Amino acid sequence: AGAVPILAAQGLSARYGQVQALAPIDFEVGAGELVAVLGPNGAGKSTLLRAILGLVATGGEVRFLGTVLPRRNPVAVASRGVVLVPEGRGIFGPMTVLENLELGAYRLGRDAQERERRFARVYELFPRLKERLGQAAGSMSGGEQQMLAIGRALMADPRILLLDEPSLGLAPRVTEEILETLRVLNRSGLPVVLVEQRAPSALKLAHRAYLLSLGRLAAVIDPREVHSHEQLAQYYFA
Ligand code: ATP
Repeated sequence: AGAVPILAAQGLSARYGQVQALAPIDFEVGAGELVAVLGPNGAGKSTLLRAILGLVATGGEVRFLGTVLPRRNPVAVASRGVVLVPEGRGIFGPMTVLENLELGAYRLGRDAQERERRFARVYELFPRLKERLGQAAGSMSGGEQQMLAIGRALMADPRILLLDEPSLGLAPRVTEEILETLRVLNRSGLPVVLVEQRAPSALKLAHRAYLLSLGRLAAVIDPREVHSHEQLAQYYFA
């Protein structure tokens, strides 16, 4: 990895009842890194995110900026700056774009200056949201809703951003647009964990990738060493 790890999971495992969905895995994100989590349906990608956030029965531990993250306490985890953009986006369709964004900043209180700073950052990244502040979130396109989901997460001023398949259901061109904004965010210094089924797209921006298969770590991939789809497939079928 090289970079100083800011998030480090050791022996992290997860189960649903008796079913082990994730075998113990060591997982790291360095300062400023964009780390991809790849793998087919059911590989355990979402489960890995849930385990980091302490939303599922886990073994092992997760350290973030030097201290252990609590389990079964998503509010405490979020207040440490670990923020998830969930699969399916989790925005509130009948509410307006503005109301959805404000929800992301609900912990901020009355600091108007800080609130303005956060809104400005979101508008700079997603000018289209600014044009649609009064619109019902559910009436926007899939890509715009994904932008809103990311924008809402940014309103919480994350210190690390976790995204669960932001490309789900989006056309390739829209996907590239969303991934490009993640690149911009990451370049500004925000560490990112990106769960993606579209491996070639994710590898274009990732510094490192973890490939999961059937609930296990199948490979850690250095994107600089993947030069073709054939080579990528070799990891999947190893
Ligand atoms: P997908 O892209 O389909 O979401 P994934 O790689 O994110 O795939 P997970 O959702 O993490 O995979 O699922 C990993 C395994 O855990 C699967 O076998 C799934 O059926 C199982 N699983 C997921 N959620 C639950 C749950 N709430 N209860 C029981 N089993 C679950």
